[in-house]
Amino acid sequence: MTGVSELVVDAILAAARVAARVCVRVQGESTLSGVPESKTGDEPVTIADYAAQAILLHTIARVAPTHSILAEESSAHLRGQGEATRLRVRDLVADALGESLSFDAVCAHIDHAGTDADYAWAIDPIDGTRGFIRRDQYCVAVALLHRGAPVLSVLACPNLAHDPATPTGPRGVLFHAIRGQGAFATPLEGGAPRRIHVRDVTDPSAMRILASVETAHGDPALIDRVVRELRLGGLVRMDSQVKYGALARGDGEIYVRPRNRPDRRENVWDHAPGVLLVEEAGGKATDIDGKPLDFATGRKMLNNRGIVVSHGPAHAKLLEALRTAEGD
Ligand code: AMP
Ligand code: MG
Repeated sequence: MTGVSELVVDAILAAARVAARVCVRVQGESTLSGVPESKTGDEPVTIADYAAQAILLHTIARVAPTHSILAEESSAHLRGQGEATRLRVRDLVADALGESLSFDAVCAHIDHAGTDADYAWAIDPIDGTRGFIRRDQYCVAVALLHRGAPVLSVLACPNLAHDPATPTGPRGVLFHAIRGQGAFATPLEGGAPRRIHVRDVTDPSAMRILASVETAHGDPALIDRVVRELRLGGLVRMDSQVKYGALARGDGEIYVRPRNRPDRRENVWDHAPGVLLVEEAGGKATDIDGKPLDFATGRKMLNNRGIVVSHGPAHAKLLEALRTAEGD
């Protein structure tokens, strides 16, 4: 029993669609200069990050007001921006929700928080903000955790092709998964959900590994050693949890996120949505030591280092290759 009602599932899928539309709108503008300074020195943030978070939390406050929230953004940095930026975020949210809203009301949505710790929403309003700014891959990422276990997840991926064989064809995919009920892909603009499954492939030379575009987010030399050691067939670089969506529908078989600094701990919202999707599609996820992923330690995954995701058959060999490569 996950406690996820159809009403909650439908509401969060609709909210992710609306948030993604706002991202598409902002990305379509000639400049993406909404919030000029970065938030913490190395993590960029745009007006679309704030607008998308306000939209998602507006919905959660309505359908699950007591649930607690683990979300990437807060209004503090936005409140310090110039008036044009603040009003632009307000207008994006007001337009998307079809409501007239004050800037303070938008900030209240961004900062919404419940107190029921049994249920927590992990939210990255734009996962892969650097990809978003480059006009590459990014996604709106949401997971509902019940006592630390993801039970519902949504990844809205506006720039992902419907059909991987036609990368320049129609784009926009909405992935979702419900614990015990499977993983699904729906065109972002609407349509019937299609059940998805990882690809059934056992020959390493037919397997493709997915990795970050941002070299600072990983360890490209280590990935190269693993590709050579396992004689993998290809390497695809892609931003954000779109990698999990790609793996879940069979566009790749392996995703390795090595720990690039000894003290680096992953954010729960950067993995909980993708992990449930891949598991429900028949795949597997652990940390780099083969330990189960622990999403019950608040905003950061304190008990894991690195992330290793696969379609299954190669997982043990992959962990072994990583151990060997790390020792080199
Ligand atoms: P990706 O697009 O897969 O490279 O991952 C994007 C996510 O990486 C962002 O949402 C950030 O939370 C996270 N991130 C930012 N800096 C680092 C870092 N130095 N190492 C690992 N992940 C990072
Ligand atoms: Mg992120």
